[in-house]
Amino acid sequence: MEINKFFPEIHGNFGFGCMRLPMVQNKVDYVEFTKMADTFINAGFNYFDTAHGYIGGQSETAIGDCVASRYSRDKFLLTNKLTDPYFKKQEDIRPFFMQQLAWCKVDYFDFYLMHAQNRNNYEKYKRCKAYETAYEFKKEGLIKHLGLSFHDKADVLDMILTEHPEIEIVQIQFNYADYEDASVESRKVYEVCEKHDKPVLVMEPVKGGSLVNLPPEADKILRGLNGGSNASYAIRFAASFPKMAVVLSGMSNMEQMTDNISAMKDFMPLDEKEMDAVHKVCDIFRSMNLIPCTSCRYCIEENECPKGIRIPDMFSSLNAHEAFHNWNTTFYYKNVITGNGHGKASDCIRCGKCEKVCPQHLEIRNLLTKVASIFE
Ligand code: SF4
Ligand code: SF4
Repeated sequence: MEINKFFPEIHGNFGFGCMRLPMVQNKVDYVEFTKMADTFINAGFNYFDTAHGYIGGQSETAIGDCVASRYSRDKFLLTNKLTDPYFKKQEDIRPFFMQQLAWCKVDYFDFYLMHAQNRNNYEKYKRCKAYETAYEFKKEGLIKHLGLSFHDKADVLDMILTEHPEIEIVQIQFNYADYEDASVESRKVYEVCEKHDKPVLVMEPVKGGSLVNLPPEADKILRGLNGGSNASYAIRFAASFPKMAVVLSGMSNMEQMTDNISAMKDFMPLDEKEMDAVHKVCDIFRSMNLIPCTSCRYCIEENECPKGIRIPDMFSSLNAHEAFHNWNTTFYYKNVITGNGHGKASDCIRCGKCEKVCPQHLEIRNLLTKVASIFE
């Protein structure tokens, strides 16, 4: 297995995301998780990712019981995160962090991330000096590397990385379906990481599983390749970009584990034919987009919506919802309406100014009613 090109302690470029572990009657299935962890480590990998919010705290304790208690500390790397609801002021951060170490049965984390940063919660992290506190942990040897995970627009990431050059790694949502998506902005967010020369951790490479069960015509295209699974093409797509340090997969059973390992053990970037096939799959998704909004943004840049409604971002969320029925679209819709006086779809007063400038002649007012009915 190749040594990671950014962090030599990471084996390969594939990580075990522990947010969707196998469950039995609302408890993590320790027998299955232990087998999966053993298979992962025996295949040569060592990067595990958790957060306190995953499975209501069970992800951390399962890692403590099934991994940390059974392997010496040099056999695995562990990433944990500081998540918004678990602190109110700076003084809360250290006791919470020490608890996280105890839950995971380790005495340091290899990576510690400021979790799910966006324009809104970043203000709280600043107010509570969260970045500075985590940097203290690094100086004390309680974490090896400091990073952040991110869920917002590229300009917000640019601002955070400019204000915090000490950040060593950035976790982003990145997959072929979100690559040009106007609400997720995978490509643009990735380019900000490139600009700041930060290695990238990929989350949601299969879009929460949406890129596994493809529409039949898209499935047929990938079946015409060399026999890899749909998930394998999605994961290898994400890993094919030069700044990608680790692609995480939130695996829930052994079948997913063995499939992912076979794609990533001797990783090869997508070749030209495979990349071409993935682009064709993207074209099919685009053809499914029920709202033919081109994200030209005329409706918000040439017209001042009196309610500050981010129309193309809302349409993008709705399209993703229609194509994938994905939980994450509600999360992104919430981001679209957060901050700077941005209105909800239902705030539209139907003045019609936006429709006058839309080159696609979209019935924006009616479409916003649909957006509101689904997300609000
Ligand atoms: S019709 Fe609605 S969305 Fe369009 S400009 Fe008026 S308030 Fe904004
Ligand atoms: S003007 Fe029309 S096509 Fe352009 S972003 Fe707005 S809704 Fe989409």
